[in-house]
Amino acid sequence: MGYLGDFVTRNPVKRFLVDHMSRYHRDIAFTYRQQKNLEYATADRIEAFQQDRLRKLLTAARGSPYYRRIIDGLGKSPGSFRLDDLRQFPFLTKEILRSEEASLRVPGAEGAYENYSGGSTGIPIRFHQDYRYRVQMSVATRRCNELAGAFTGARVAKLWGAPQDRRQIEGWGGKVKLWALNMRYYDTFDMGPERMKLYHHQMEQFRPDLIQAYASSIFLLARYLREEGIRPGYPRVSIITAAEKLFPHMRQEIEEVFGVPVFDRYGSREVSAMAAECACHDGLHIQMPGYIMETIHPQTGRVVEEEPGEIAITALANYAMPFVRYRIGDMGTLTRKVCSCGRTLYRLREIIGRTSDNFLMPDGRIVHGEYFTHLFYGRDGIRQFQFVQHSRQEFTLRIVPSVSYSGELAGRLESEIRGMIGAGPQLNIEIRQQIPKTASGKYRFTVSHLSTEEMLAGKPR
Ligand SMILES: [Zn+2]
Repeated sequence: MGYLGDFVTRNPVKRFLVDHMSRYHRDIAFTYRQQKNLEYATADRIEAFQQDRLRKLLTAARGSPYYRRIIDGLGKSPGSFRLDDLRQFPFLTKEILRSEEASLRVPGAEGAYENYSGGSTGIPIRFHQDYRYRVQMSVATRRCNELAGAFTGARVAKLWGAPQDRRQIEGWGGKVKLWALNMRYYDTFDMGPERMKLYHHQMEQFRPDLIQAYASSIFLLARYLREEGIRPGYPRVSIITAAEKLFPHMRQEIEEVFGVPVFDRYGSREVSAMAAECACHDGLHIQMPGYIMETIHPQTGRVVEEEPGEIAITALANYAMPFVRYRIGDMGTLTRKVCSCGRTLYRLREIIGRTSDNFLMPDGRIVHGEYFTHLFYGRDGIRQFQFVQHSRQEFTLRIVPSVSYSGELAGRLESEIRGMIGAGPQLNIEIRQQIPKTASGKYRFTVSHLSTEEMLAGKPR
């Protein structure tokens, strides 16, 4: 959820009041200024800042059995750790996150809470975050929004699905928050021609400055509007795409229909927004004050630059369960070259990340694939999953079980999926030893064999 400071006017007196109204707001305001000041700094200065934060992170991390073992094994004290030393650190994988969850936790981290993700690879994971992480997340999100032209008081339309995010906007409290933040939500778990028509009318009224959306959802809306011959008068400034891969043809279609530039963003629930495009649209600037990003040769494990590699992230803010050299499961090309915009923050290009399909329901609704991945969040018993739509009337759920899997869990999942697809269609449940990757080497956890045209023609039966 947004931070109140984003809504208040640029009036310096009001700004000061908001920035000092609570410790949380003070910390955000301070961290924001600190990180914004580094945007054009020399690489040396930024790296010195990272190194300082890394030392603090590792000092805290040593409070967990997992990291204490590693740090003591390296024979270095966290306080003298250099950035280069990070290369001796073992990678953190999703498998380790699952098997060592308890020993990765640092007891006593301030404001710790539990969170979940389906990640990029369809391996559901559970992790812990804290107060520091929330401050960093607010700052990184705000910095990324600013790169896309956002300004204080901007009206934002969110074409979004994540139920965890939406839970915060339910009820009256949520309505007031949305009003205060100048924000509206449009549900990607309930699309389809009729719904999109409604969203379009609502956005015409709301006149957002920015739209923030799942890439495939805003693409679908653009296709719908074009087919209906509608030229939307919104958003005024830009469109931010996130949460999944934005292909060039999608960007082109969205920009043509809405007549504003698209700014791609890279992030995940485990580590929040980490990189975003500037107006040069030549790669995504890494939010280096908050994250150390490396790209790794998939076979050798060697650090590479200027060529595609597997992304490994060190999140500098989360002390509750530190992510050090976390292999998130996406690929990208890292470059240190200074961008034409003058910002020195390194960039990430050609991200090969998660792709998620949209699904057509028998009643004509279109549901973003994230709906199905969210069903697996925080569920023990499942190592990996894949949900497939073969036709309007046939779906398959593939499960790679772990030891705690049970028939009861399968029954619960089936009834939750039925809750969305209805009782009519055939639903196959397959228990597998493994789920093969696609030709590109990426694993897809939601696959629909229906085309966009079939989706848009999907009138209720
Ligand atoms: Zn730039």
